[in-house]
Amino acid sequence: MATVKDFSVEEKLAAVLALQKIDSKVDEIKTLKGELPMEVKDLEDEIEGLNTRLGNIDAEVSSITSFISGKNDTRKDAQAQIKKLEKQQENVKNNREFEAINKEVEYQELEVQLADKHIRDAEIELRDRQEQQNRTQTKISTLGEALEAKKAELEKIIAETEKEEEALTKESDAAKEKVDPRLLSGYERIRHSYRNGLAVVPIMRDSCGGCFNVIPPQRQSEIRQRKKVIVCEHCGRILVDNDLNDQIQA
Ligand SMILES: [Zn+2]
Repeated sequence: MATVKDFSVEEKLAAVLALQKIDSKVDEIKTLKGELPMEVKDLEDEIEGLNTRLGNIDAEVSSITSFISGKNDTRKDAQAQIKKLEKQQENVKNNREFEAINKEVEYQELEVQLADKHIRDAEIELRDRQEQQNRTQTKISTLGEALEAKKAELEKIIAETEKEEEALTKESDAAKEKVDPRLLSGYERIRHSYRNGLAVVPIMRDSCGGCFNVIPPQRQSEIRQRKKVIVCEHCGRILVDNDLNDQIQA
């Protein structure tokens, strides 16, 4: 049986590429899980903020409502006062007394007008706050639904991926056995130095599929020949041709 060292460059490339595809799948699962908990947390924070805002709006609504009710009382008192004064006017003894009461009536009428204006203004403000109340409540319930969906999604992914991740990790270990040790150490080193975890990349639009720097035609043809391991001169990633990339599946 041939040992790993006896493999052709093409076989070595295929082996390291197979490992890359498996590891990329593991990365994909990690990314999926990595973002969902954050999204859940963001939604929870946003809902909490909206609830605080709703509490403030509720307090404003009740304060405006009691202001209006106070102004209605003022208005009623002034009207009762007017009625009382008008009765008094029927029994006045002289003009001077009549005029004095008249002044008081005018004052009370102004009180009524002022209360009316305050009530009208407050009612406009109240309607505005009530609209805010409705909008905020609607948003809270919409976000609440989104939160429930995200939570369910996350739980599902965790339940589903636990087994898959375990299986892929085993596959990855098995695939490593088939990779040339020197190539493997290079692979590990490059893989851990890039956030996307890509150490083996295909040529994409005449460029390196990792750093997107252009690969000269001569080099591209060398890559296609699969006679030696060629790394990107810019990022150090191992380069493979598209046909090989398409052949190898995780
Ligand atoms: Zn590159």
